[in-house]
Amino acid sequence: MANDREQLAEHLKFFGELGVTGFRKDAVWASRAESAQPTAHGPQPNAQTLEPESLAAIREDIGECVRCKLCSLGRKQIVFGVGNPNADLMFVGEAPGRDEDIQGIPFVGRAGQKLTQIIEAIGLKREEVYIANVIKCRPPENRNPEPDEVEQCEPFLFRQVDTIKPKVIVALGTFAAKSLLKSNDSISRLRGRVYDYRGAKLVPTFHPAFLLRNPSCRREVWEDMKKVRALLNGETVA
Ligand code: URA
Repeated sequence: MANDREQLAEHLKFFGELGVTGFRKDAVWASRAESAQPTAHGPQPNAQTLEPESLAAIREDIGECVRCKLCSLGRKQIVFGVGNPNADLMFVGEAPGRDEDIQGIPFVGRAGQKLTQIIEAIGLKREEVYIANVIKCRPPENRNPEPDEVEQCEPFLFRQVDTIKPKVIVALGTFAAKSLLKSNDSISRLRGRVYDYRGAKLVPTFHPAFLLRNPSCRREVWEDMKKVRALLNGETVA
């Protein structure tokens, strides 16, 4: 157990790495341990082979996708996912934005820079984790993905999860958390707990873009990231 001084130092380091330079003297720790809720859904692994398929095979299967209307609504390219195919930690966001659509890589814009800071704050490099989105094409004007788009696209995310087999999945923001957990609750209600999900532990937290607009939420994100780090260390977390 880290003592108070160590925890404070760790906390300050996290804030520093998130680009925070000033601090108020208010109380910083809020304990939010609550019970886990098991949730599982989506397609099961291929029963014929029981072999995990490769990410390349999943990407090939997506092809030049025309399964939903996003293919004709201005997307430049499919943004599949990036990172370590054997990652213990996977981040799942909502959908590509403008920068991601141009570069073909998830989380490369401002929200992506914030995500990179979060990853580094828990002692990992971006290349060590895997990053993907529920939706692989940019919705026009960055609108929320629609149910028919999610229905067509999320099976590919499930297959990515089943292939990578991460120990921990972080659902970034309301949309990813609701989609993965099949819940109507907001991220504020869903976060603070750890869920069982497709063989992994799922930790919902605020989206980095939300964090950019609401820096006061970094305290909650830090609480969530401490859970992620503990889970990666094999500790039991409620
Ligand atoms: N927001 C997301 O949810 N995903 C991205 O890839 C970029 C921004």
